[in-house]
Amino acid sequence: MLLKIQSGESVHSYIDRNISLNWRDPSARFFKAFSKSNLSFSELKTIASTMGWLGCRGLNRLLHFHTEYPVYSVIKNGQNLSYSQDAYISQAKWMGAKRQAFSFCPDCIREDILTLGFPFWHRLHQKNIEVCEKHNVLLQRVCPFCQKGFYFDNHGLDVIWNGCDSRSLAETVAIANNDPIKYKRSKLLNEMYHCGFHISEQAALKVLYEKLSSVDYQNFLPAQNADLYIDHLKLTVSRLNLKIFNSRVQLSITGLCFEAIMLAYEDFDSFLSDIKCHDNALRPIDSLWGTYQAGGGSCFNYITV
Ligand SMILES: [Zn+2]
Ligand SMILES: [Zn+2]
Repeated sequence: MLLKIQSGESVHSYIDRNISLNWRDPSARFFKAFSKSNLSFSELKTIASTMGWLGCRGLNRLLHFHTEYPVYSVIKNGQNLSYSQDAYISQAKWMGAKRQAFSFCPDCIREDILTLGFPFWHRLHQKNIEVCEKHNVLLQRVCPFCQKGFYFDNHGLDVIWNGCDSRSLAETVAIANNDPIKYKRSKLLNEMYHCGFHISEQAALKVLYEKLSSVDYQNFLPAQNADLYIDHLKLTVSRLNLKIFNSRVQLSITGLCFEAIMLAYEDFDSFLSDIKCHDNALRPIDSLWGTYQAGGGSCFNYITV
């Protein structure tokens, strides 16, 4: 029997945990093929359906709760009817699922052992995040005993269960974080992951531009690149108004929105409140799970399964 995936667990953690802790079960053999650096969407679909999460909805459920995909999907074009574009029929490797630069929070490890009996790798502890959102301590990017990183071809992820030379990562001393910006970034990403709605990127860009044009952001956040983000927002909003906005640049827009929310708001909920004033028909996050985009990036042909 497969192990139960944990709330907030990265899909790579789940794969390797099945191999390391469930090795007597035939499923461990199944997961070995997926313990690697890159996963394709079709491999993620296979993993989801083996977990009993079937079809397009199952793939999107896995993407939403156990990968970094919400970063690209929570804020999306209002005309886009699919959660993950053509992922359901795609054979492409998805670079967002690349297994790289894993890190851990010593306090989370100790807490998980206490509550669950075992630790796991959290999807929130990813490459652009330096602080644990829950404990406000620095994430550890290398093994404290041998200094190896947690890359695929370096220390394997199994070190969290099997230890390094008989020593457990749970022995690691946590180091308090003193940087409020890094902490805010972690909290904001966590709140974005837990957003129950899709936010129209058109509404998001306008709200962010209006907000940043009206507040003295320098009062509450020392941001070196604030002017750059505001200029970029201004340009994007003017393209939106001229109807020459290209939604295929969504990935860079998503990064732009995240940085702009960092500048303009104390938290994600305050941003969401302003969005609700502009868009009173927010789509529930799981309402697009059963639909995929067919026919390539520029062809908006949607199929619901
Ligand atoms: Zn933690
Ligand atoms: Zn080590």
